[in-house]
Amino acid sequence: MIRARKARMVATLGPASRAPDKVLALAEAGVDVFRLNFSHGVQEDHARALEAVRAAEATLGRPLGALADLQGPKLRIGAFDTGFVSLEPHQSFRLDLDPTPGDQHRVGLPHPQLFKAMTPGSVLLLDDGKVRLKVTRCDDHSADTEVLVAGKLSDRKGIALPGSVIPMAAMTDKDHSDLNFALRIGVDWVALSFVQRPADMADLRKLVQGRAAVMAKIEKPSALADLEAILDLCDGVMVARGDLGVELEPEEVPPAQKTILRAARRRGVPVIVATQMLESMITSATPTRAEASDVANAVYEGADALMLSAETASGQYPLESVRMMNRIIERTERDPRWPGLMDAEHPSLEDDDADAIVAAARRAAESSSTACLVAFTARGASARRMARERPLQPVLALTPSPDTARRLALVWGLEPRVVRDPTDLEDMTSQAVEEAVRLGVAPPLGRILIVAGVPFGSPGSTNLLRLAHAPWKG
Ligand code: PGA
Ligand code: MN
Repeated sequence: MIRARKARMVATLGPASRAPDKVLALAEAGVDVFRLNFSHGVQEDHARALEAVRAAEATLGRPLGALADLQGPKLRIGAFDTGFVSLEPHQSFRLDLDPTPGDQHRVGLPHPQLFKAMTPGSVLLLDDGKVRLKVTRCDDHSADTEVLVAGKLSDRKGIALPGSVIPMAAMTDKDHSDLNFALRIGVDWVALSFVQRPADMADLRKLVQGRAAVMAKIEKPSALADLEAILDLCDGVMVARGDLGVELEPEEVPPAQKTILRAARRRGVPVIVATQMLESMITSATPTRAEASDVANAVYEGADALMLSAETASGQYPLESVRMMNRIIERTERDPRWPGLMDAEHPSLEDDDADAIVAAARRAAESSSTACLVAFTARGASARRMARERPLQPVLALTPSPDTARRLALVWGLEPRVVRDPTDLEDMTSQAVEEAVRLGVAPPLGRILIVAGVPFGSPGSTNLLRLAHAPWKG
């Protein structure tokens, strides 16, 4: 009735997967949250994909999350008159504000802020670092460069100036339009790409107004440098290793992943490890050994969720990729070393009421007669507090709010379910017992540990620990 794993799976929908039957198949294979990637496709595609997700949820009877991923202020060059050029090593190449199509010697770069941020000697990375240019001279509207790493450069490829904070808005006009659209169709999470500073998340929060949970994609070194302040403003965070690996050297990505995971887990902010997890399965029915190992490592690190991108959005084996990821996660969590490795750094509790309850619950959960935990939660805070402890028993997150249940689908180990608004403590207890028995996580007389905040419905007030026992039906 509930999944045999604690780490959650996020799958990106795209042309290979967004038809309703395919979405249902992916959900049946274990996907918990579906990502709508607004860097690709048109708004109508995402609306249809979301309808398919909601239909799959109704069929399965298990809450599924939908995450809108906004493109963010990705810097791009303009177009070429021939669609692309092949740059030669050491040739000179000019970037300027001229919107006319580029050629072998120049191309437009419609970002005056970028010219202001570069200096002679700066290295520009294009097309995910496949082409590198060194600035030899620059002013406020153009730059002359030397080609350091040559190659093919085509229309509107991305460009980055590593290590800089570019003074530009956190969201483009397209992002504003996509955000309004995503909120209108009713997504559960909104993620912002290329977050540079805490103010970017503060701006997003202001626009979203609680209509969805907000996530920062950490893919800029400047975001990594200001991680704690950014996490203060986040409901979730993504280790966006693709773009992070453009501006950081490859060997810097694993420690960055550890840094982000640790900071997020300490706060109980759900964290997704993303990009290239099963990359070779875009074109192959089996992953590389290194990819299997990467997935397992994220599980050993206690990540809340692991994400598939092109593997499910546009690859040849979307369903196989999800099944493979599911198998690797389940196998890793059967390793007797997994709890110890995952808890190598247990976040210390805070000195507040909620954590006093959670500490008591944790102690009680250590006893083998505790069958399961139940967090009764209005906005999800009590449930996330429990998940932060990484308990090994099943954890039900019961809430009268379908929105809360869908948001919690991303969180480590939580089994969200929608229940009736409890009338009083007894009603809450009997609903918890009923649901635990129905989901098969409470054997006869098994102890059920319930945490909640009373009065019910006032968020952020986890203050109650209640024990109950499953009925004896002998
Ligand atoms: P993207 O973000 O797939 O939207 O680029 C994830 C990443 O950069 O890793
Ligand atoms: Mn990215």
